Amino acid sequence: MKERTFVMIKPDGVERSLIGEIIARFERAGLKVVALKMFKFDKELAEKFYPTSEEWFEKVGQKTKKSYEEFGLNVKEHLGTDDEKEIGKIVKKWLVEFVCSKPVVGMVLEGNRAVEIVRKIVGHTFPYKALPGTIRGDYSLESPELANLGKRAVKNLIHASDSKEEAEREIKTIFKEDEIFDYKNCLDRIYG
Ligand code: ADP
Repeated sequence: MKERTFVMIKPDGVERSLIGEIIARFERAGLKVVALKMFKFDKELAEKFYPTSEEWFEKVGQKTKKSYEEFGLNVKEHLGTDDEKEIGKIVKKWLVEFVCSKPVVGMVLEGNRAVEIVRKIVGHTFPYKALPGTIRGDYSLESPELANLGKRAVKNLIHASDSKEEAEREIKTIFKEDEIFDYKNCLDRIYG
C-alpha cells in the first residue's frame, strides 16, 4: 500500500557530499520524492522532532547500554547512570546537539511500503554493523564506542522514520502542507 515516510540526511551526510548519492538510491528503488529541502535545526525544533516518549528513551537507552557492554565499557562510570531511560535522555541530548550543528536535508518519500523499504535501504543504526549494499554499510565505518567515548551521537548519515505513525508526526513537524507535492511519475504507470 502506498505510504509516506520522512528521511533526513544528517550533518555528516551533507558534509561528506553524499546528498545526491543518497537520494539516487531511494529513487532507483522506486520511491518518489514528494518534498525536499535543506534547512538547519534550532534546539527547539530538534527537541520537538526527536521523540520524548518513555518507550523511545528506553529503546535507545537499552541499545546504548548493550553496546557499552559489548565494547567492555562501564556505562555507569562513563555516563553517571545505568538507568536505561536516563541513558536514552542523554543520547537524545547528543542527537539534538549533532543535528543542530550543520545543515541537513529533509525529504518525504512516497511508495508502496515506503517506511519498511527505506529502513531496509538505510541499514542498521550502527554503521559498522550495517550490511554492504545499505547506505550506512557502504558509506560509514562509525561505531558506538567511537561516538560514546566522544560523548556524542552516532554519526550514521541518515534518519528514517521507523513507523507510519512516526512518519506522519515527523513530516508534520518539518514540512508545511503546501511543501508536499502530489504528482505522477513513470512508476505510477507501472505499479498504479
Ligand atoms: P535509528 O536512527 O536507526 O532509527 P535509533 O532510533 O535507535 O536508531 O536512534 C536514533 C539515533 O540516535 C541514531 O540514528 C543515532 O544517531 C543515535 N544513537 C543511537 N544509539 C546511540 C548510541 N549508543 N550512542 C550514540 N548515539 C546513538
